[in-house]
Amino acid sequence: MTSTSAESGTGVLAGEERLLIDGTLTGATGGATFEVINPATEEVAGVAADGRPADFDRAIAAARRAFDSNAGRWRDDVEFRARCVTQLRDGLVRAQERLRRILVTEIGTPIAMTHRIQLAFPIEEAGYWPGYARDFEFGRDAGTHTGMGMSFAQKLEYVPVGVVAAITPWNAPLYLNIAESVPALLAGNAVILKPAQLTPWNGLELGRIAAEETDIPPGIFQVVVSDDNDVAALLTSDPRVDMVTFTGSTAVGRKILAAAAPTVKKTVMELGGKSTHIVLDDADLAKVLPGAAAATCTMSGQGCTLATRVLLPRAKMAEGLAIMKATMEAFPYGDPWDPGNYSGPAISDVQRAKVLNLIEGAVASGATLITGGGKPAHLPRGYYIEPTLLSDVDPRSVIGQEETFGPVVTVTPYDSEEEAIAIANDTIYGLAGQVSSGDDDRALAVARQIHTGTVGANAPAPFSLTSPLGGVRQSGLGRRYGDHGFEEYLELKTIAVPA
Ligand code: NAD
Repeated sequence: MTSTSAESGTGVLAGEERLLIDGTLTGATGGATFEVINPATEEVAGVAADGRPADFDRAIAAARRAFDSNAGRWRDDVEFRARCVTQLRDGLVRAQERLRRILVTEIGTPIAMTHRIQLAFPIEEAGYWPGYARDFEFGRDAGTHTGMGMSFAQKLEYVPVGVVAAITPWNAPLYLNIAESVPALLAGNAVILKPAQLTPWNGLELGRIAAEETDIPPGIFQVVVSDDNDVAALLTSDPRVDMVTFTGSTAVGRKILAAAAPTVKKTVMELGGKSTHIVLDDADLAKVLPGAAAATCTMSGQGCTLATRVLLPRAKMAEGLAIMKATMEAFPYGDPWDPGNYSGPAISDVQRAKVLNLIEGAVASGATLITGGGKPAHLPRGYYIEPTLLSDVDPRSVIGQEETFGPVVTVTPYDSEEEAIAIANDTIYGLAGQVSSGDDDRALAVARQIHTGTVGANAPAPFSLTSPLGGVRQSGLGRRYGDHGFEEYLELKTIAVPA
């Protein structure tokens, strides 16, 4: 099987079909493939190898072998690892126009977003971590200690965890494929990346670049996909896998934790969210709400940290809704190849049906539809959803509690600051949030009472390579980015030597 490059239409491009197993780009056992659908046209854009249990087994065996044999001194030689990841980053830069077209084709992401989170940011990430790893102190002398009458000198050594399975979703796939693989590689692990089957190509392209343009030893970085989640689940139960790093829904996160429990795997879980934006009574609505409404529509609302629940003081409802309605009706969405659009289609027909169903349920449970709510008449092809604004949403209703992952903003009135905080915290999630006020100190005081991993107080929710990111409660375990994010891929070993 060869990599394909069939181009058509407005730059549509089929991506790499092959898996990367043990240093070789290969089809799946028996030549199985599955179709990749372009969500903007509903057409088959190409295929990807449909990994079978035997393929996943080979990948796990190769990773185990490569890690245990310290292939190429991978575990011990940070300079070698940094050089290899820099080669990977240089390969991404060389392939970036090809990747841009692949990403727009398989996600339906607006091309504008490839200049941000979908492509530019992942390349920045891949360039950032090698320098970080070179400077990281993997071994530290930690002074003299006494315990139970004994005295010893202590060394702290940060060692790789071992074989790491990295399982990622489809909404920002290249960014998450890099976010989960690159720090884990630089920490000295062997990584098996399993991208989502709705967007397999950018992950398989990463495998192709690793195989063709880097010195990463065979088995140290592998990429496998399967259309069957039961096959993917083998990565989460196999005793030869030491760690699972996962980004995806809370429902699948629970399954992975259960599958990983018998072998007590280390896990990092970046899961779903239901983030709230509390707009306090002294906030400048004209300044705050256009951005709040537009952010939630960006990328079809398919972002985990988007603050999709807006809480407004009851007396400000009419004014606030008018501002948000105007923003959402003017929001540029449609053809993802149009650089003026900030939203394309939903990822799939199933996802669109789920979102439309949530909207319908909200109206049935008493919410008012202010704008949107359906399929746009002017976009008959593609899984598009109108930017949708709902008011008077019961925070305990299904749409008030479940992750929507569509271009939908719900607005709920509140009567006191305490009530707003209680509504924001009354969810199983705890990923992100936002507070807006005319007073920075007041915004910060309220933000401190929101039970989430990240929160913006008169600022957007924090997002940068040096800002720890992650959820509390059922939004996850562990952190990505910052020092904490790197250390997730290491175990801390304490060694005593004579004082
Ligand atoms: P998903 O949970 O359905 O799938 C995620 C990945 O898990 C896919 O690769 C899928 O094939 C795989 N998978 C499914 N079942 C599995 C199993 N039993 N064992 C092993 N792997 C399995 O999520 P999705 O629909 O692809 O993505 C959307 C979700 O991702 C949303 O809930 C969103 O909030 C979340 N997300 C979270 C963050 C974060 O940083 N917290 C970032 C982006 C997306």
